[in-house]
Amino acid sequence: MSHDVWVVVEHQDGLAKKISLELLGCARALAAAWSGKVVAFVPGGSTSQVAAALGARGADMVFAAEHPLLQRYTTDGYATVLTEALRADPPAVALFGATSQGRDLAPRVAARLGVGIVTDCTSVGVQDGTLVATRPMYTRKAIGTIRFKETAPRIAVVLPAMYPLPPEQPQRKAEIRSWPVQLDARAIRTTVREVKTIQRETIPLIDADIIVSGGRGMKGPENFALLDALARALGGAVGSSRPPVDSGWVPHDYEIGQTGKTVSPQVYLACGISGAPQHLAGMSGSKHIIAINKDPNAPLLQLADLGIVGDLFQILPKLTDAVKRVKSSP
Ligand SMILES: Cc1cc2nc3c(=O)[nH]c(=O)nc-3n(C[C@H](O)[C@H](O)[C@H](O)COP(=O)(O)OP(=O)(O)OC[C@H]3O[C@@H](n4cnc5c(N)ncnc54)[C@H](O)[C@@H]3O)c2cc1C
Repeated sequence: MSHDVWVVVEHQDGLAKKISLELLGCARALAAAWSGKVVAFVPGGSTSQVAAALGARGADMVFAAEHPLLQRYTTDGYATVLTEALRADPPAVALFGATSQGRDLAPRVAARLGVGIVTDCTSVGVQDGTLVATRPMYTRKAIGTIRFKETAPRIAVVLPAMYPLPPEQPQRKAEIRSWPVQLDARAIRTTVREVKTIQRETIPLIDADIIVSGGRGMKGPENFALLDALARALGGAVGSSRPPVDSGWVPHDYEIGQTGKTVSPQVYLACGISGAPQHLAGMSGSKHIIAINKDPNAPLLQLADLGIVGDLFQILPKLTDAVKRVKSSP
């Protein structure tokens, strides 16, 4: 069996997404344990710019799988290419990001190959020569350790922000090879007609080290401006619990939790969120949790590293001013 570790790279506008770079860091450690190579697999319509940058982040080799039909993500197109590639040259493990694309793609590829998969991994490592992954279970009440069987490849879908970005080494270059892609348009059952980008005041949740999140306690859509202002001052993103999404105060891509996104930023600041298990399922992996709630018995205050009992409408403006003051002081 090959000891190589593949990273399936997601990219946009010629740049690899942050999660894919994090996976290169994870792959480096696995490849070192097995004396294998780190291979970045880059599907897309045009991949030369992104492929050229991956050596500096730890890839030894890059497979550029270019085809006009891969210009935009489709489940059928990408699953066909990945399945054939992993069947033709099976690595020891293939790493996918736990993004909407990775979560859609990886289980299909695993099913078509008939190999094992672990989703929502918080770590992937080698113990006694065996690949082992950890993942949250029972809405994060427990962390399970899962040993993979010796299939090739094994597939791991890794949550964002579990691995630090590998440092950029500009002098480091990867060998770039073109991966032959044969795709028939008739095999792709969906047509992407348009991609609409959601306009946000702040950076996307998935890229954020700091998330400022609001719940039903925000009382209305206009008050999310308080969260935008604080998130901008901190250089973070704004998220929400489910009620603000259900009420149409914020778009669906803000939602964090069981039916929303799973995030694990360095800091998660929850404002007017009670801490229902369905919300905790999406954010309890955050490194530091701060909660503002006027109810001292709110469950999230029990989980938080730092709890502020009080009225968020009084606290948030003061907090934003304090952050701006600290950031502008020499
Ligand atoms: C199948 C299923 C899936 C679900 N998936 C999700 C999911 O993915 N994500 C999710 O979030 N929820 C999800 N839910 C809903 C979940 O059960 C809770 O209803 C929801 O998380 C509650 O949101 P909240 O904390 O914002 O609201 P509430 O529980 O109503 O809490 C509001 C909080 O704001 C506080 N507050 C009010 N005013 C102020 C003020 N002025 N200052 C400070 N604090 C104040 C209150 O004390 C209270 O604690 C799901 C439910 C089901 C059944």
